[in-house]
Amino acid sequence: MSKDRLLPAPTPQSQPFWDGCREGALRLQRCTACETSWFPPGPLCPQCMSGEFAWIAASGKGKVHSFVVYHRAYHPSLADAVPYVVALIELDEGPRMISNIVGCAAGEVRCDMPVEVTFENVSDSVVLPKFQPIGRS
Ligand code: ZN
Repeated sequence: MSKDRLLPAPTPQSQPFWDGCREGALRLQRCTACETSWFPPGPLCPQCMSGEFAWIAASGKGKVHSFVVYHRAYHPSLADAVPYVVALIELDEGPRMISNIVGCAAGEVRCDMPVEVTFENVSDSVVLPKFQPIGRS
C-alpha cells in the first residue's frame, strides 16, 4: 500500500466547498427557499427539494456530536498520526460533518465539546477542515 496520503477528489458539486477551505472559509449550501443548510454538497435541498441554493460562509463553530479514537493506522500514511480522533461535528448551522479533532489530546475529547474549524494544508492544492476546542488555540 502506498504511503501517499489519501486526499479528497473534488467533484463539480463539491468544488466550491474545497475552494472555500483553501481560502480559509467553511462553506455550506443554503436553500434559497427554506434557508436549510446542508452537507455534504448535493444538488437539492434535503428539506424541501428545491434546487435553488447559495453557498454561504458558515461560522465554523459547532460541537462534537460523537467521536472515536483511532489507535491503529489503517493506512501507512497515518502511522505517525495515531492516536487520532475522528469526530462527527454538529455545526451551529445544523449540518453534521466528519473530521478530525486537533489541538488537544485524544483523551480530552468529549461529546458536546464546543469546537471551531481550523484549516490544514495537506498538499499544494488540498486544504482540509479540522476542528479544535474553542479557546485553546
Ligand atoms: Zn429548502
